[in-house]
Amino acid sequence: MSHKIGIFGGSFNPIHIGHLVIAEAAWQEFGLEKIIFIPTADTPQKDMHNIDKYLRYEMVRLAIAGNDHFSISPIEIEREGISYTVDTIRELRERCDVNTDFYFIAGTDAVADLPEWKYNKELLHACYFISASRPEKKEKLAKTIAFFGELGKEKILTLKTPELAISSTILRDWLARGVSTRYLMPDSVIQFIKEHHLYRR
Ligand code: ATP
Repeated sequence: MSHKIGIFGGSFNPIHIGHLVIAEAAWQEFGLEKIIFIPTADTPQKDMHNIDKYLRYEMVRLAIAGNDHFSISPIEIEREGISYTVDTIRELRERCDVNTDFYFIAGTDAVADLPEWKYNKELLHACYFISASRPEKKEKLAKTIAFFGELGKEKILTLKTPELAISSTILRDWLARGVSTRYLMPDSVIQFIKEHHLYRR
């Protein structure tokens, strides 16, 4: 029997309903067994706004609690040195049944930028990509699929979900200004942010 596992990588700084909605929709539409959320390590390429990887991990853990087909892995935050998605898929493959197909979930913005990712062809050979629509970059996504030719057509799948024009960037700004983020993030995450005085100016 073959297995279908979703991988959802992100900085989740902080996690919000945009992330949770696309993960649930991908699970349902593609008949995935489970989704593994993988918070990224702290990297010099992306400003983490002084929120370290363990805090981001904890917010994801709280956000997915109670959903039996969601889980979390520290695989990237525990890895030494630079972390590439292709290494993560390889490592997960070693731990899973040989008949496992991996589906990497990402927003259109991220998938459209695939030509700029390191080891992108290896990655497309190693897993499917599920591109969750986000208001930006739709035309660029079509170009990206064409860029990879047959591989792109076979491996880049699109997911239709209601588009939620929110991002961690917007929420960080609102949190810093004391604007309510209720209903845009799970209550448990809002509580954690308050208790640890995160995202304050
Ligand atoms: P930031 O604003 O800090 O860049 P983000 O909100 O894009 O963060 P990430 O943790 O970087 O969140 O995103 C992880 C993945 O989730 C990315 O592939 C991103 O495209 C996707 N994603 C985030 N928010 C949404 C959304 N509202 N709709 C669809 N996809 C999303």
